[in-house]
Amino acid sequence: MNYLGAHVSAAGGADQAVLRAVDIGATAFALFTKNQRQWKGKPLTDEAIAAFKQACKTHGFGPEQILPHDSYLINLGHPEAEGLAKSRAAFLDEMQRCEQLGLTLLNFHPGSHLNKISEADCLSRIAESINLALDATQGVTAVIENTAGQGTNLGWRFEHLAEIIDQVEDKSRVGVCIDTCHAFAAGYDLRTRDATQATLDELGKVVGFEYLRGMHLNDAKSAFASRVDRHHSLGKGNIGLDAFSTIMQDERIHGIPMILETIEPEIWADELNWLRAQVPEAAPGK
Ligand SMILES: [Zn+2]
Ligand SMILES: [Zn+2]
Repeated sequence: MNYLGAHVSAAGGADQAVLRAVDIGATAFALFTKNQRQWKGKPLTDEAIAAFKQACKTHGFGPEQILPHDSYLINLGHPEAEGLAKSRAAFLDEMQRCEQLGLTLLNFHPGSHLNKISEADCLSRIAESINLALDATQGVTAVIENTAGQGTNLGWRFEHLAEIIDQVEDKSRVGVCIDTCHAFAAGYDLRTRDATQATLDELGKVVGFEYLRGMHLNDAKSAFASRVDRHHSLGKGNIGLDAFSTIMQDERIHGIPMILETIEPEIWADELNWLRAQVPEAAPGK
C-alpha cells in the first residue's frame, strides 16, 4: 500500500497544510516548510511546531506519509564556492526544520553545473553536500528528485541519481523521488503500459527500488524528451492515464508517499479517487 496526496499550501503555518490534505481525502502530503523562493525562512516557533505535530496526530499522519520539499534556490552542486556554501547552509536549515517538525524525508532537486564544471564534478559536489547535511542531522533521509533536465540541471538520468547515491556515505539516509513528468520530459517513455513497465524496470536496474522513497504523479504538458518541465493534470497531458494505472498496480512500489503536483487543485480529490480505484483489492490474507 502507498500513501496518496498532493503538494498542499502551508500558508498560515505547517499545521494548515495538514488540514488541506484532510480536505481532499489524502493519506499523504507534501509541503514547503518555508517560503520556497526565499533563502531565509523565519525560524519555526515552538507553537508552530506543536501545532503541526498535534494536527498530524489528530488526523493520523505519520512521518512516512509526509514528503517536504526544499527551496528551489538551493543548488547543492553549485560550481562556485560562495553559491555552494550558501546552498549548503540553506539545505542544512531545511533538514533541521524537518528534524524540528518530526519529519523523516526531505525531497530536493540535486543541482546544476551552470556550464562551469563537468557533470561528474557537479554530481560529486551534490553527494558531498548530502554527506555534510547528513553528518549534521539525525533521522532525516535526503530524497533526491529526478529532474526534467531543463538548462544545466542534473538528475534527469537515473544514472545521475545512482552516481550520487554511490558517493553518499550513509546509504540508509539517502533515497530518490521519481517525478513522472520529469522522467517523461527527460526521455523515459510512459505513454503505454509496456513503456511504463520498461521505465520502471530501468529504474530498478539503475537505482534500485530499495531507494525509492516517494513519487510525484504528474502528467506532462511538455513533449516527450523535450527536457522541459511543465506539469499537467492526470490524463490531460502527453503521458496519459495508462502510466498512472500501471504505477499504482506495480508491487515494487509500496509504503511511500505518492504526491500530485498537478495544476488544478480543485480536482485533486477526484484525481486521488481515480488513483485509488486503480489498485486491485488485496486478496484475503494478503
Ligand atoms: Zn520537485
Ligand atoms: Zn516533482
